[in-house]
Amino acid sequence: MYMKRAFELAQNADPYPNPKVGAVIVRNGIIIGEGYHKKAGRPHAEIEAINDALAKGEDIKGAIIYVSLEPCSKHGRTPPCTEAIRKYGMKIVYGTRDPNQEHSGQPDAEGPTNQEEGEKLNREYFETWNCFVAIKMAMSIDGKTATRTGDSKWISCEESRKLVRKWRSSYDAVMVGAGTVRTDNPKLSGEGKNPVKIIIGDNVPGDAQCLENAIVVSCENAQKKRGDALICGKNEVDLRLLKRKLAERGLRKILIEGGSELNAKALEYGIVNKIYLFIAPKIIGGKDAKGVIGGKGIDKIANAKSARNMKLSHIGEDILLEFDI
Ligand code: ZN
Repeated sequence: MYMKRAFELAQNADPYPNPKVGAVIVRNGIIIGEGYHKKAGRPHAEIEAINDALAKGEDIKGAIIYVSLEPCSKHGRTPPCTEAIRKYGMKIVYGTRDPNQEHSGQPDAEGPTNQEEGEKLNREYFETWNCFVAIKMAMSIDGKTATRTGDSKWISCEESRKLVRKWRSSYDAVMVGAGTVRTDNPKLSGEGKNPVKIIIGDNVPGDAQCLENAIVVSCENAQKKRGDALICGKNEVDLRLLKRKLAERGLRKILIEGGSELNAKALEYGIVNKIYLFIAPKIIGGKDAKGVIGGKGIDKIANAKSARNMKLSHIGEDILLEFDI
């Protein structure tokens, strides 16, 4: 019944493009605070409910918060709700799992209790998030994706590359960074059906082989912008926003074949469902040779992303590891 009330409150929410969310705080079986997400940029439902309870002088320490959608755990336009909830030591019960993986899978929360109802309530939000993203990576035994001079052709064997060409045809789009286009000038063609190419960054040579049937993606503050670029984000391409925009265009299955920086960004933005990792029986070495995932990386092993459902197979002389993330 508390969850029912949270869903009722969510009906009043109008936070487009965010999902509609309602929350109630319960102590000793009595509702002591209620809230919903009124407008994008305004406090989330959980915070509204906390403020409501506090304004009424209620003690919310150790209470239970019922939220129609999993509370957010990453900084967006507002601070993450899980931080506020934890501060008061509240227990979380949520109705719907958030398709945005940045927020989903919180260890100490109970749910989802009403997944179907929640997906119905926020159909548009779920539809645009229901998009599958995989990364294909190839590395040497020692984890390098190129030599110190940048040479990367080819790390994986012919059979592996043939398999990738086959995969491309089953994806709606293949995504690469502009850097990869500049250095490797890949065709990114499939076998049979040719996927749309998504190029991140607009410093792309005019004669690049993959420009045909391509969407070039840039950000608002890019140095030089192509007239036809799809703008996503302010100072860098916001891959979460891009994922939604691509889903809206019907591109729901994306294969990333980026360099180490795009790989890192995709993981940072939490848009990745699956990783295909080819390991070639080669040793490259060199501290200046790029690893398969660049970026800043994490600070502590405890914060590492874990691979799930790991599967191993042999493709030619390579090993292929497939796993969910
Ligand atoms: Zn939130």
